[in-house]
Amino acid sequence: MSHESPLDLLGVGIGPFNLSLAALADGVEDLDVRCVDERSSFGWHPGMLLEGTTLQVPFLADLVTLVDPTSRWSFLAYLRERRRLFPFYFAERFLVPRAEFDDYCRWAAEGLDACRFGHRVEAIRWDEAAGAFAASLIGPDGVGEVLARNVVLGIGTAPTLPAPLRALHDDDGPVLHSAQYLHRRDALRALDDVTVVGSGQSGAEVFLDLLRAQRPGQVRRWCTRSRAIAPMEYSKLGLEQFTPDYTRYFHGLQEPVRDRVLPQQSQLYKAISADTIAEIQQVLYERTIGGGWPDGVSITPNVSVASAAGIADGGVTLELREPDQGQAATLRTDAVVAATGYAPREPRCLRPLEDALQRDARGRLAIDAEHRLVTRPGLGGIFVQNAELHTHGVGAPDLGLGAWRSATILNAVAGREVHPLPERTAFTTFGLEHAA
Ligand SMILES: Cc1cc2nc3c(=O)[nH]c(=O)nc-3n(C[C@H](O)[C@H](O)[C@H](O)COP(=O)(O)OP(=O)(O)OC[C@H]3O[C@@H](n4cnc5c(N)ncnc54)[C@H](O)[C@@H]3O)c2cc1C
Repeated sequence: MSHESPLDLLGVGIGPFNLSLAALADGVEDLDVRCVDERSSFGWHPGMLLEGTTLQVPFLADLVTLVDPTSRWSFLAYLRERRRLFPFYFAERFLVPRAEFDDYCRWAAEGLDACRFGHRVEAIRWDEAAGAFAASLIGPDGVGEVLARNVVLGIGTAPTLPAPLRALHDDDGPVLHSAQYLHRRDALRALDDVTVVGSGQSGAEVFLDLLRAQRPGQVRRWCTRSRAIAPMEYSKLGLEQFTPDYTRYFHGLQEPVRDRVLPQQSQLYKAISADTIAEIQQVLYERTIGGGWPDGVSITPNVSVASAAGIADGGVTLELREPDQGQAATLRTDAVVAATGYAPREPRCLRPLEDALQRDARGRLAIDAEHRLVTRPGLGGIFVQNAELHTHGVGAPDLGLGAWRSATILNAVAGREVHPLPERTAFTTFGLEHAA
């Protein structure tokens, strides 16, 4: 893939966030935007597209609607093109199936001229003579180079495992990450004893899925370091922490304050939907009809995996600790599904620019209010989507803020208001407006 004159903006990665950017840039005459992804086609967390699961945000958090509901890339436009508007209308659903969101995004990715799959961005350097970034790409035709005055990284996050489980994790082994769940589900369902670790939304969904398929004699365990199996914040004003207003407030806080606040907000983005908790309770409740207690099920919060060891028969031994009791216990299980979250992916392609990037006291990238990395003067803009949890707060991975962030970046690149954005987005006032 080559391009003679520099692009205005090169998007690295095509997840929902850069896809939103491509959709909002579509038809903007003075912006030449291209987005590339190393995958051969679009795919949204394929290992977790479980039947019956839905988005955790209303369908209005699609690629464009919260910025431009008239865009031809809206979720409703997708339904119209698929001739499914009437069924959707009668379904009266705000939370659409996760598989449907994946299909919607694929539809957009296939329709948008700006999107190219099968191209991995290896390295990005600044080309002084061209006054642009030079991105080297590996694609089906070999290595190529693309010039772009600005770049936006939308490379997503990578699965993480706690240290004791990391060493045992591999594609076919007894320890896997929930991101791989669907690819291994049949084999897991057949095992006598499976342990799910972690109580975010993914942990709850995997446990529920295993529970539903549980056969007599099988054991299904769920343990988590969290103090309780807790629901996600979903109150109308609580959700205002996922607005541009809150993002702006959070970005304006001092770095040590942000680092103190963020871990206290796990209920906003790491907990479980109350509906999924209710579904798990319902499955267990139904098993008590006629008397007795559900066999072969354990749910244990406030325990962490202190160590793990593979055993000869292919299973795993876990040493668990309960800090409040001061107790430890060892259990043997056939497989462990680590639903232990994701961390920002290391932006390796930026290594040639390392000297030009400013980092904070903890070595993280410094990022300005418009989602632009702070660099030495004289370079184009390097923007990030979903790598700014430490600077912009809990909304960084949230789909509901994707369109707004994409529009903010496009406005910054164009140097004009391509997409008008509202000044006020929350009824809550975050911080004191007129501090003495
Ligand atoms: C199972 C799951 C469900 C979620 N559900 C919700 C939800 O309901 N609501 C919500 O608000 N949030 C949800 N999230 C959080 C978040 O919105 C998603 O993770 C979202 O996919 C993030 O999009 P992204 O564009 O940052 O990255 P990704 O979707 O991870 O896409 C990144 C892309 O970058 C590509 N890439 C990486 N490096 C390169 C490179 N060097 N060159 C080329 N391409 C590259 C990858 O191939 C990948 O396709 C969910 C997360 C998970 C894991």
